[in-house]
Amino acid sequence: MDGMKTKECNKRAIVAGGAGFVGCHLCRRLLAEGYAVVTCVDNFQTGNPDNIARFRSEGRFRLVEHDIVEPFTVEGRVDEIYNLACPASPVHYQRNPVHTFKTSVIGSLNLLELAREKGARILLASTSEVYGDPHVPVQGESYWGNVNSYGLRSCYDEGKRGAETLFHDYHKMYEVDTRIIRIFNTYGPCMSAADGRVVSNFIVQALRGEPLTVHGDGRQTRSFQYVDDLIEAIVRVMQDGVLHSPVNVGNPNEITVKELADIVIRMTGSPSPIAYRPLPQDDPCRRHPDISLATRVLDGWQPAVELETGLAKTIEYFRAVQ
Ligand code: NAD
Ligand code: UDP
Repeated sequence: MDGMKTKECNKRAIVAGGAGFVGCHLCRRLLAEGYAVVTCVDNFQTGNPDNIARFRSEGRFRLVEHDIVEPFTVEGRVDEIYNLACPASPVHYQRNPVHTFKTSVIGSLNLLELAREKGARILLASTSEVYGDPHVPVQGESYWGNVNSYGLRSCYDEGKRGAETLFHDYHKMYEVDTRIIRIFNTYGPCMSAADGRVVSNFIVQALRGEPLTVHGDGRQTRSFQYVDDLIEAIVRVMQDGVLHSPVNVGNPNEITVKELADIVIRMTGSPSPIAYRPLPQDDPCRRHPDISLATRVLDGWQPAVELETGLAKTIEYFRAVQ
């Protein structure tokens, strides 16, 4: 953590899910901004102690192993709460769907109560999954989505939709200072090799010389955002004074899953073949964010990292930890 603090700031934050992929990047950024992360709360369901090991010696960082489904409190002042706690990979969130739903809904309720008690600003890491399998080619915030309430992905999709509803109503009823971002597929270093999402799977498979498992015919699309761009947007959303309604945060560069597999094979120089597997139930056909709202309200925010630049950094990370 030497040299981590680059700015002065007296803010005190809670990061729920701080030991996960996005959470550890956020903790690092907040500490660099001079924050005290007074509580990084995580139950290590998908989080990794290694992700936060370098922060542990820092007096401004405190880890609490706890499940946000159970209420908890924190001593002293809290200025900001970041709710990132929830498994994000379909493999993991489908393992115990009831708990996933509880995490999104009851966990958000517990954190909203804490925000209300402390007078803290609170952010929800929502998801493009609130649009389900969209009927529109580009998803803007005014699109209400096409979501199955009774399927394998419902625990996550409907859980996040329920969390958004709670954030809306805590703002309306109790004037809690809420923020909601809808994150589109994000990748980067510190993803777990066993995460199960497509970017980490393809890179790990390519580095091991195993077949890259493409689901369906690989023509479904996603738009992949490098984690640094997401963190910059999160910081800006929390600095904004008025933005309570949801805002999309993603990279509009849309590609097919098969194209991603080909790029990873080329960039790793892997001899791996492609192996086609059945398409999981309710797997969205396309995903492409409209980020015009984010660009307008977040001081011109735009993703800055090109796909191949971000993939190169992620490949380097997985080469080092394999
Ligand atoms: P992740 O699985 O790597 O991290 C989630 C973290 O939350 C882990 O450390 C996990 O142990 C912790 N956690 C899960 N349930 C918990 C609970 N009940 N109590 C306490 N801790 C709990 O996922 P990620 O990619 O870092 O995603 C972070 C957040 O962003 C999630 O809320 C996810 O839904 C959202 N999101 C991420 C993406 C993406 O592409 N990465 C896209 C959309 C939304
Ligand atoms: N996918 C794939 N092979 C894998 C993992 C995922 O083809 O090994 C597909 C998955 O079916 C989906 C896309 O890649 O069509 C993105 O999957 P991911 O789990 O990363 O995110 P999400 O489906 O939540 O967008």
